[in-house]
Amino acid sequence: MEKRDLLYEGKAKRVYTTDDKDIVMVSYKDDATAFNGIKKGTIHDKGKVNNEVSNKVMMYLEENAIPTHLVKQINERETLVKKVEIIPLEVIVRNKVAGSLAKKLGLEEGTILKRPILEFCYKKDELGDPFINVDHILAAELATEEEIEIIQKMARKINELLVGYFKNINIDLIDFKIEFGRTPDGQVILADEISPDTCRYWDATTGEKLDKDRFRRDMGNVEEAYLEVYNRIFA
Ligand code: UDP
Repeated sequence: MEKRDLLYEGKAKRVYTTDDKDIVMVSYKDDATAFNGIKKGTIHDKGKVNNEVSNKVMMYLEENAIPTHLVKQINERETLVKKVEIIPLEVIVRNKVAGSLAKKLGLEEGTILKRPILEFCYKKDELGDPFINVDHILAAELATEEEIEIIQKMARKINELLVGYFKNINIDLIDFKIEFGRTPDGQVILADEISPDTCRYWDATTGEKLDKDRFRRDMGNVEEAYLEVYNRIFA
C-alpha cells in the first residue's frame, strides 16, 4: 500500500493517508516531549522500539478479544492502522502509585493500590490535558454514555491482560495511558500506541525504571531502558 499525503503530525508520530481511505500509515519519530511539550529531546531509535513494541502488544491484545486499530507493520518505523476518529480522552489505568497520583493522594511512588484506578483526561494540548470525570465527558459531548461504558470495560480488561503479559518478562506495569477511536461504522477500538512512552514499566526485581520517566526526570540511560523493554519482549 502506498503512503501518500501527510495527514497529521503529532509529537511522536506522523500520520499519512494511503490509497485505501479506511487505512492510514503511522510513522514513529525519535522526538520526545514531556510536561505538555515544555521539555524536548530525542531518544535514539525510540521510533523503532515504540513501533515494534506497540504492535507486538496490540497483537497480543487482539488475540485476547480486544479490538485494535492494528492492520500491518510495514517496516521498523511504519505501520498501517485503521483510520479512526480519535475520542479526545487520555484513559489512564493505574496499579501502583506514581507520577501525578503520588502528588494527588500524597502517597509514595510504588504504593500498591487496593484496586486499579481508571482516570480520564481531556486530550487538548492548549488546556494541558486536564483531569475530567464522566459528567464532564457527557456534558461536553466528548463521548456517549455507551462509549464510556465500552471504554471503561475495555480499559480494565486491557490492564488485566497487560499486567500478566509484562509480569512474564519480569516487568511491573505501574500505570499506562491508552486512547480509543471510532471506526466509520461507530465501533470503539483501541488506537494510538502502547510503549515505553505511554506506560510506566519497573523491573520487577530491582524496581529500575524502564520507561519515559528516565527522560522526564533526566535519569540517564534512556535509550538503554527502551532497548531493554524491546529485548525482553522479543527475546
Ligand atoms: N501518560 C502519557 N501521556 C500523557 C500523560 C500521561 O502517556 O500525556 C502516561 C504516563 O506515561 C504514565 C501514565 O500515563 O504511564 C500516568 O501519568 P501521570 O498522570 O502520572 O502523569 P505524569 O506523571 O507523567 O505527568
